[in-house]
Amino acid sequence: MDAVIAKTLENLKANQFGAYYAETSADALEIVKSLIAEGEKVDRGGSMTIEQIGALDYILENCGYTDPYKVTDPAEKEKLMQARYTCDTFLCSANAVISDGRLYNEDGICSRVAPMLYGPKQVIVVAGRNKIVNTEAEARKRMMTVAAPLNAKRLNTGTPCTEDGVCHNCKSERRICCSTVITNFNRIKERIKVIIVNEDLGM
Ligand code: SF4
Repeated sequence: MDAVIAKTLENLKANQFGAYYAETSADALEIVKSLIAEGEKVDRGGSMTIEQIGALDYILENCGYTDPYKVTDPAEKEKLMQARYTCDTFLCSANAVISDGRLYNEDGICSRVAPMLYGPKQVIVVAGRNKIVNTEAEARKRMMTVAAPLNAKRLNTGTPCTEDGVCHNCKSERRICCSTVITNFNRIKERIKVIIVNEDLGM
């Protein structure tokens, strides 16, 4: 295992995260499956990584999950979005994993970071090796120069970063980076489990 990944996993454990290593996306999916108990209510936050490893397809086919992002009726979509706050297992990624064993996230309406913080019994975070950074400052830089502009473009937000790939600290109604959340430690041991995959995944 790569030394940086090994150090990051060790530091995550010290901060009471569950910490897992997956050599490939297929391995990561097997770990996700092993952590979901039969009959559990499973939900997920918007994440390319969760889609790329096949976890979205898995929960659609096996866990009775309905994807709110595919629902057009606003009332039905909101009902489905609210369900994530009371689910058993919430799947998502992180914008960055700081190698001292912490998670860094930025969110727009916070429907991803809110259930990460409280509600679901467990949260499974899957992150590619490309998400590992050394400091909070590096995490912020990665967010504003890589992840946010790329995600804004993918989501067609029309924010200025979609034009030139540079953050303008915009005041747009569709701004996707409104709240910064750094998770330093798990009060409930291993409530948040982090799987680091030895592949580049997500943005
Ligand atoms: S603040 Fe606005 S311009 Fe900057 S990355 Fe976020 S959405 Fe883009």
